[in-house]
Amino acid sequence: MTHQIIPIVNQSQVEAGDGLGCHAGAQTMIAAAKAANKSEVLHQYALDYPKGPHDQPQSMCPAFGSLRVGLRMRRTSTILSGSACCVYGLTFTSHFYGARRSVGYVPFNSESLVTGKLFEDIREAVHQEANPEKYDAIVIINLCVPTASGVPLQLLPKEINGVRIIGIDVPGFGVPTHAEAKDVLAGAMLKYARSEASAGPVTAPRQGVSDKPTITLLGEMFPVDPVGIGMLLEPMGLAAGPVVPTREWRELYQALDCAAVAAIHPFYTASIREFEAAGRQVIGSAPIGYEGTAAWLAQIGAACNVNSDLIAAAQNKFLPMIRSALAAKPIKGRVTLSGYEGSELLVARLLIESGAQVHYVGTACPKTIWSQPDREWLESKGVHVQYRASLEQDLAAVAEFKPDLAIGTTPVVQKAKQLGIPALYFTNLISARPLMGAAGAGSLAQVINGAIANQERFSTMRDFFEGVGSGYASGVWDEIPQDRPDFKADVKRRLDKAQKKRKAEEIG
Ligand code: SF4
Repeated sequence: MTHQIIPIVNQSQVEAGDGLGCHAGAQTMIAAAKAANKSEVLHQYALDYPKGPHDQPQSMCPAFGSLRVGLRMRRTSTILSGSACCVYGLTFTSHFYGARRSVGYVPFNSESLVTGKLFEDIREAVHQEANPEKYDAIVIINLCVPTASGVPLQLLPKEINGVRIIGIDVPGFGVPTHAEAKDVLAGAMLKYARSEASAGPVTAPRQGVSDKPTITLLGEMFPVDPVGIGMLLEPMGLAAGPVVPTREWRELYQALDCAAVAAIHPFYTASIREFEAAGRQVIGSAPIGYEGTAAWLAQIGAACNVNSDLIAAAQNKFLPMIRSALAAKPIKGRVTLSGYEGSELLVARLLIESGAQVHYVGTACPKTIWSQPDREWLESKGVHVQYRASLEQDLAAVAEFKPDLAIGTTPVVQKAKQLGIPALYFTNLISARPLMGAAGAGSLAQVINGAIANQERFSTMRDFFEGVGSGYASGVWDEIPQDRPDFKADVKRRLDKAQKKRKAEEIG
C-alpha cells in the first residue's frame, strides 16, 4: 500500500467555517486571560497539550472531560463557574451520559465578574458545600469567561473542614479536547494526593493493600479491560492497580504507590508528570492484539525487573489464545477510523491484526512519546496516522480511501452515511467493548462485520433519497430552485458596506 497524504486544512479555513461557534475569538480570550494573571497556567497547557497543524479539533466543549471525571468520583462535589449557556450544555451532556449527580453552579453577571464578586461567591459556595460527612473533595472548574477574566481559583483555601478544594481552569482556548481536560483534573488530584502522601500516612485502599507490585492503568477503559490486564500480569507476579482517573480519592494514593504506570491512553501529560515526580516509570502502548501484547508484557516486565522466564511464561500463556481468537473472528474490509478518545491507534492495531485493511487513523489527541510504538507499528503497515486531526482531514480520508466502513465522530458518520458508506460511531460502539488481551481479540469482529454487511441497506437508503437535492436546492419542489450567486454577492457587498459605515460612525 502506498503512503497517502491527507490534505492539511489550515486554521484560517477551518475558523472561517466555525466563525459563530463558541471557539470563535480564541486569540482575544487568550489575550484577556494573559492580562488577567493566567499566563502561567496557559503556558503549562500549551506545553502539555501541544496544538497544530490544526489548532482546535472540532469536538465538544473540553470542560466536559473534567466535569465527567469529577462526577464519576465518589464523595466528590463538582461545581462549574462559567456562562449559563455553557453550563446548560455541560449539565445536559453529563446527564445524557448518566451522571445521576447534581452539578453545582455559581452564576455571575457582568458586574460580579468585573468587581471580583464572582470569586467571593465561589468562595462562599465552596464553604457552604464543604461537608466532610458527604465529601472528600470539591472540584471547582473555571470555564472560558471566568478564566479569561482571571478569576483566581488558586486563592481558594486548599482544604475546608477536611474537604479538599481543587480549583482548575479548563478554557476551550487553552485545553484543546475533552480528553485532555480529563488529564487536567486527574493531574491536579494526583498532585494534591502526592503532597498528602509525602507529608504522612494516608488512607489505605478500600480492598486493602495488594500483596503484589501493581501497575497503574492510565486512561478510562471498558470495565472488563482492567480485569483482563490483571490476568495478563499475574504470571509475572504483578497485579493491575487502579485506573486513573480514579473513582475515589483514596485510589489516588494507591495509583501513586505502584511499580510502574501503563499509559494506555497516551495523552495524560499532567498525570504522567506527577507519576514521574513520584519516581514511577511510565510505559506506552497497551496489551492489544498479538504483537502489541507481546511487546507490552516485555516492557512492563523489564520496567518491574521481572525475571525473563516469567515474562516468557506470561507471553506463552496468553499469546496463543490471542492468536486463535483473532483467527476465529476475522474482519474483512477497508476501514477508516477517527475519534477523540485517545484509543484510536490501539483500535486500529486490533483491526489490522484481525485482517482489516486500515488506511487512515485520525485522532484529536496530540502526538506524544507514549503513542510512539503504536504510531510506528501502524506506519510500518502503510497507515496514515494523523494527530490533532480535523474533521476536514477525517472526511478527506473517507473521500480518498472509499472505505467499506468509516468509524468516526458524529459528523464523519453522518457524512459517510450520506455517501452510502456504512459507518459506526467510535465512542458508543467501539470504545464500549473490551480491547485488551484475549478478551479484546476478536471483540470487534461482530460489530464491524455486521456494519460492513449492511452495505446494501445504505445503498438502498442513498437511492431512496437520491434527487432530493442539496444545499440551496434541498427539499421536494415542483420546480428546482435556481441558484442566484450574483444576488448573494450583491447582498453580501451591501452588508459589508453597511458594516464599514457603522464602524466609521462609531470611530467618528
Ligand atoms: S466553556 Fe468555552 S469551550 Fe466550553 S461551551 Fe463555553 S465557551 Fe465553549
